[in-house]
Amino acid sequence: MTNNNVAIIGGGASGLFSACRLIQMGIIPTIFEPNQLLGMKLGITGKGRCNVTNNCSVSEFMENIVSNPKFMFSSLNKLTPQQTMEFFEQLGVPLKTERGRRVFPVSDKATDIVLAMKNFLVKHGCVIKNERVKSFDSKEDTIIRINTDKGSYSSFDNIIICTGGLSYPKTGSTGDGYALAKSVGHTITDLSPSLIPLECYEESCRIMMGLALKNTGVKVFNNEQKMVYNDFGEVLFTHFGLSGPTILSASTHMHPMEPKKYTVSLDLKPALNEETLDKRLLSDFSKFSNKSINNALGELLPNKLISPFIDFCQIDKTKKANSITSSERKALVKGLKNYKFTVKGFRPISEAMVTRGGVKVSEINPVTMKSKICNNLYFAGEVIDVDAYTGGYSLQIAFSTANAAATAISELS
Ligand SMILES: Cc1cc2nc3c(=O)[nH]c(=O)nc-3n(C[C@H](O)[C@H](O)[C@H](O)COP(=O)(O)OP(=O)(O)OC[C@H]3O[C@@H](n4cnc5c(N)ncnc54)[C@H](O)[C@@H]3O)c2cc1C
Repeated sequence: MTNNNVAIIGGGASGLFSACRLIQMGIIPTIFEPNQLLGMKLGITGKGRCNVTNNCSVSEFMENIVSNPKFMFSSLNKLTPQQTMEFFEQLGVPLKTERGRRVFPVSDKATDIVLAMKNFLVKHGCVIKNERVKSFDSKEDTIIRINTDKGSYSSFDNIIICTGGLSYPKTGSTGDGYALAKSVGHTITDLSPSLIPLECYEESCRIMMGLALKNTGVKVFNNEQKMVYNDFGEVLFTHFGLSGPTILSASTHMHPMEPKKYTVSLDLKPALNEETLDKRLLSDFSKFSNKSINNALGELLPNKLISPFIDFCQIDKTKKANSITSSERKALVKGLKNYKFTVKGFRPISEAMVTRGGVKVSEINPVTMKSKICNNLYFAGEVIDVDAYTGGYSLQIAFSTANAAATAISELS
């Protein structure tokens, strides 16, 4: 049996998972994690509930990967979403599958996922060093020393970089892994935010702040009038613009981002066509004929939305329902189907759910996650140039790549 001391850089989703898998395969690794708490980002995922994976087939999963899906094929087949679910259930975390096949702990507590892995690691003697890895010393394409803010280590045979991306830096993902990978010769593709809220020019977003619209049609057009995104779901108005799951997914199709390049068109009534909507307006206007248009729309739209929407349709808000002309009604119908917002840009990358870009996939073996440049280096998680939609896909990518790296390393022993 050859020496196989493994260093895992980063104690987040992919770091903890690779450590657990290594232990299950008979190797006790060392984790370097500068935060006092392990899995800080994991602990806030899914609004504190942790959407741990998506209970779909591998082929459906692949359709939800935005950048470099092919790279994920092998590792996803090696650790499918269902196998991830088994892993956590065996660790004592019962799971449930919700709408959109999103999987959560039955307890609705993301911390249960973190604790289950942490307890398993501690029980099996995994060494956790509260240190930040700053650099590597290499010789003949092999890392021979890991330098941290507290010391240097030359005892590691294999190293997995699990340092995450650039978003939510307060959780520890500050982009160190990119610099470490670059220092041994890896290419880092352009880094930008993904799954990110949108800043819009319209003041009305601030007025509607806090309003969440369910079942809304969302289309995004670029400045050449080409539709780049079309889906239904939840949209949230914020003080700066638009957010919510469907907007976050739309953002992955808005590259490169430039001011005024993209327009978001909301269909407020996707289940109704223009003719049906017109009839509905006529009926509401006759029911509330003596009321102002503001009040007459109260049964069709949420309160917060009515006033900004009437402004968008360029109709005088003080007008009574019975004096609305047919062309004004037509404008309302058109507005309901096409409520437009002009995008100024993404929110800062620190607010993104994930980072787009990372270590170039052609420089990593997709079966083993081993670097093609450095002999004893592996990657897992968001540091790699792969990103996906919301729905538990990002964590599954972290787990599948972690599992592939751990499996490959265990086979060296
Ligand atoms: C608010 C929010 C909610 C999310 N919700 C979901 C969800 O519900 N489902 C889903 O699938 N995805 C979700 N994601 C995305 C998901 O959390 C990430 O894709 C995932 O955590 C990436 O795992 P990782 O191991 O690559 O990185 P991380 O989990 O970020 O872990 C990286 C770790 O590396 C450590 N580190 C960094 N630099 C160094 C260094 N130099 N030395 C040592 N350690 C270092 C960090 O401190 C950190 O602990 C969410 C993201 C955010 C921001």
